[in-house]
Amino acid sequence: MAHKFSPQSIERLLSDERYSHIKPHQFLRDCGLERDMQVADVGCGPGFFTIPASNIVGRGGLVYAIDVQEEMIRMLKRRTRRKNIVPIVSQEHRIPLDARSVDFALLAYVLHEAEDKGRFLKEVKRIMKKGACLVVLDWKKKREKDGPPFHERLPLREARRLVAEGGFSMDRVTSFGTSHYIISAIK
Ligand code: SAM
Repeated sequence: MAHKFSPQSIERLLSDERYSHIKPHQFLRDCGLERDMQVADVGCGPGFFTIPASNIVGRGGLVYAIDVQEEMIRMLKRRTRRKNIVPIVSQEHRIPLDARSVDFALLAYVLHEAEDKGRFLKEVKRIMKKGACLVVLDWKKKREKDGPPFHERLPLREARRLVAEGGFSMDRVTSFGTSHYIISAIK
């Protein structure tokens, strides 16, 4: 069974240190998130990327904040009640949204936690519109003090293969700092 980020450590996802390394608003803008888009933040946790995403898409857009752990969604609801954020508790391979609902899907530090990564990506693809953008941000396969242990990390090579085999067209693969990678792809 793949390890899930423990809700007991939830504050680590919102720490000042994390904000000093990752600027979520800038990150999302650089990835192409724009005003009025419909977004799925899959594996949203307590909303590190969700709230900045809602600022970018504005009142004409919508952010579906999706997580398998109820505690994460509960924490997100405590942090914000914005009308353009829709919190959703999902199942491992089932997101309760119609097909072709979103223009942009963000998987931030979640793919390495998915039980069956191929099945998970297939479900994410189902809720994306044709031409929608997929962004996978995750930890490089390295031994480091911070972040998940080595054995839980998903190598970039493997993540690329999963995205390509999922039927997405690869757009861009980049390094993000020294510890992370970004894969952008199109449905
Ligand atoms: N994306 C958030 C961030 O960067 O702050 C949270 C990252 S946390 C490391 C990973 C989150 O993904 C956890 O909240 C976990 O519950 C969620 N998760 C893991 N597997 C999932 C799945 N199959 N579907 C939806 N959420 C999942």
